[in-house]
Amino acid sequence: MPPESLSCKECKTVYPLDARYVCERCFGPLEVSYASRADADPEALRRRIQAGPHSLWRYGDFLPVSAPPPGTLPAGWTPLLRADRLAERLGLREVWIKNDAANPTHSFKDRVVSVALARARELGFETIACASTGNLANAVAAHAAAAGLESYVFIPHDLEEQKVLATGVYGTNVVAVQGNYDDVNRLCTELSGEHEWAFVNINMRPYYAEGSKTLAFETAEQLGFRLPDRVVAPIASGSLFTKIARGFQEWIDAGLLSGRLPVFNGAQAEGCSPVASAFAAGHDFCRPVKPDTIAKSLAIGNPADGPYALDLARATKGRIDSVTDDEIREGIRLLAQTTGIFTETAGGVTTAVLAKLARRGDIDPDERVVAYITGEGLKTLDAVRGTFEAWRIDPNVSSFERAAEQRAGALA
Ligand SMILES: *Cc1c(COP(=O)(O)O)cnc(C)c1O
Ligand SMILES: [Zn+2]
Repeated sequence: MPPESLSCKECKTVYPLDARYVCERCFGPLEVSYASRADADPEALRRRIQAGPHSLWRYGDFLPVSAPPPGTLPAGWTPLLRADRLAERLGLREVWIKNDAANPTHSFKDRVVSVALARARELGFETIACASTGNLANAVAAHAAAAGLESYVFIPHDLEEQKVLATGVYGTNVVAVQGNYDDVNRLCTELSGEHEWAFVNINMRPYYAEGSKTLAFETAEQLGFRLPDRVVAPIASGSLFTKIARGFQEWIDAGLLSGRLPVFNGAQAEGCSPVASAFAAGHDFCRPVKPDTIAKSLAIGNPADGPYALDLARATKGRIDSVTDDEIREGIRLLAQTTGIFTETAGGVTTAVLAKLARRGDIDPDERVVAYITGEGLKTLDAVRGTFEAWRIDPNVSSFERAAEQRAGALA
């Protein structure tokens, strides 16, 4: 089922599969279209998937590049864990955590970069670049290093130090811009007209976005080729959120899944919640905001796929909610203490929104719920600083016993 063309999401004008992202007629976004799968045999397709590699490349039939070029850093095939202790805490019965921190650079961005970079190499690009809120820079730097390509990553100057260090180590060109992500994105859009570079999330965006579908494919396969009833996922630009739905729909259409799309719940940080605000106000479009939140990986004030995220939440009878920075910190601890998974602030947003939905009674206790944890806690350590105190003791037994007694006393 080969990719056929790029087509405009709005007016359906068709373009060749090259490095372009915007419709010349109506300025709508472009996406990859595939040849019809109507005659494909679902059983044969399912067997081919199950015989594939333990990476996102097992879903090559549904991607614009069917096999990875040599030197590819494998990404995807991350754990889907049943979280019974978390479910119990929330008064639910079946909650699953898709832990995408278990990727090579510890976020879901390894998926989108894998696909964009593979297509960029087919198109002959020798330099890879991106506009990033942190995790994308991390992934671009690593995957470019593995492929032996030069890379430039453009980031806002005030990112978490852990993310910047974990990016620079790959030998990329780290360009810190005095501005926020939306300034960085605007600059990169201009630069993409000046240089023959593959900007993974600008001129390669249609291919980049396809990588997120693999989160849906993996979820369904790991559930035994079944659909969840509800998903909770974070929203920055809205690409991940909407492409998870696209992935499920493609498998329903291909006969690999039966049923209909899950309910889609989007999660944003209150300090950058243009999509949640538009949802609450009943608007079809998002009003851009200036981000101010600890969830820096989600800090996109002008989300490109915001209107599509709103459509999806409404069409599936879902919602888009936001949570405060304190709720995000609590969400990180709730997930860690009930599942053993330490997530970054974006995962705190997702967990806090899941908890909020459960508290509000929006979730039927019998639903099968999947929450998408998209990044690693070690990248945003400041979010948990000061939340506990270590016991300070001398290296002898009596000192330990004294400290234990004091603790017990303090607790009583
Ligand atoms: C980029 C990112 C997202 C979502 O990004 P979209 O632009 O909405 O696709 C979610 N979580 C983390 C940790 C990210 O880095
Ligand atoms: Zn168009």
